[in-house]
Amino acid sequence: MSSKKPTSKKEPPQTVKGMHDVIGSEYYALEGFLEKASEIAMYYGFQPIETPVLEKEELFRSGIGEGTDIVDKEMFAFRTKGGDHVVMRPEGTASVIRAYIEHGMQSWPQPVMLYYKGPFFRHETPQRGRFRQFTQFGLEILGTPKSIADAHVIHASAVIAHEAGLQNIIFEVNSIGDKECRPRYVRELANYYKRNAGDICSDCKRRLKENPLRLLDCKNEKCQGVKENAPQAVTTLCDACRKHFKEVLEYLEALNIPFRLNNNLVRGLDYYTRTVFEMVENPDDAESEESDTGEKEAKSPPAGKTGKQAGNSEEKSPRWLALGGGGRYDYLARQLGYRKEVPAVGASYGAERWFLSKDFERMNPRIVKQPKIYFIQLGFDAKLKSLGIIEILRKAKVPITQSLAKDSLGSQLAQAEKQNIPYAIIFGQKEAIDDTVIVRDMNTRSQDTVAVKELAKYLKGMK
Ligand code: AMP
Repeated sequence: MSSKKPTSKKEPPQTVKGMHDVIGSEYYALEGFLEKASEIAMYYGFQPIETPVLEKEELFRSGIGEGTDIVDKEMFAFRTKGGDHVVMRPEGTASVIRAYIEHGMQSWPQPVMLYYKGPFFRHETPQRGRFRQFTQFGLEILGTPKSIADAHVIHASAVIAHEAGLQNIIFEVNSIGDKECRPRYVRELANYYKRNAGDICSDCKRRLKENPLRLLDCKNEKCQGVKENAPQAVTTLCDACRKHFKEVLEYLEALNIPFRLNNNLVRGLDYYTRTVFEMVENPDDAESEESDTGEKEAKSPPAGKTGKQAGNSEEKSPRWLALGGGGRYDYLARQLGYRKEVPAVGASYGAERWFLSKDFERMNPRIVKQPKIYFIQLGFDAKLKSLGIIEILRKAKVPITQSLAKDSLGSQLAQAEKQNIPYAIIFGQKEAIDDTVIVRDMNTRSQDTVAVKELAKYLKGMK
């Protein structure tokens, strides 16, 4: 046997940087939010899907695209013992479309409407509202090119935000065209940046060569002037894209969803076509980090009622915080190697971002059980029978709390009082022999002795 003593210098284990435990009220708030969002999605006909946390690296390389920050810098990627290159999923859309193809959902009635929720992983610099593990809720409508699907995703998102208390949101919207008109726009953009190459950061010089559309994702101060005057995608839209975008905006107006145009919005992923959007919030005096879309929001006017009212001011406002976003991704299936196009649109939202909002209203999940009874067991004979009695309580739908560590009546009653539990059940040696329990009202201090076989009935009367 080794006589080595454990070294006292060893630090106790801690969570990995940018990741955190979710405990107590934070846990309930997260569950409550996800449950509410799921419920709303279900009412609208979205079905749940859960995809694995690990996916093949290729899925995101082909889907999100080389030259994007997520693929180039932020993926937790590694090789399995079997030699597969895998990634801890950085986002949900590529997985959902993989699942759509893999499970032959194209033969289901179209469109297929799915929602998902769960942890996502990006190797970013942790800061307020930005973690390496975070929770997203997402909606996807697959199998239709119709503009009403874009509007439906945005509308469902707005309703979820509203139900979560977020009153001060607005959707930034843009159209980045399709394969007909986008190449012309990308050429114009690249030519413009080439002319201004002296005024851009080294990352943008690389983007210019590899993936010019990503130039508009740049958040570097140096590039903001160039970016602001860059050509706008909406001016080069083909007729079909212009019509689609116009319809989306008409839906938003008809639904009274606050929105404004943001010509610099391209979103940091390659798979988008036509509509792109972000839900942002004016943080007012709340401190906030920079929005995902960069500086354009910082110049945007405060949220108005509709796009018309909101979109014409030069007024400066505080930085806008991106709560999530999405867009149409008609070519993603083809990009992933599927033989047919699957026109689709979706959005995802970061729960931790929503929690930062001063307006966010915490909701409890449905299965939170506030203990109604503090169960006190005294002595070994009582302890032997106690789990059976606790089961009677569970079947009678009475949630309890207890102390498995404390032995004295006084200290357990004190705990019950401290935790504001309305009733205590006292189960000692005598009660164990008699097959009874004592039910104590913690407010009045009155006590009843109840036979165990009558307990369920007695508890019903108490409710
Ligand atoms: P994206 O897929 O980059 O558009 O992200 C969608 C939303 O997920 C963002 O707007 C945030 O609400 C959330 N999100 C993305 N990355 C992070 C992160 N590192 N930490 C927390 N939330 C994030």
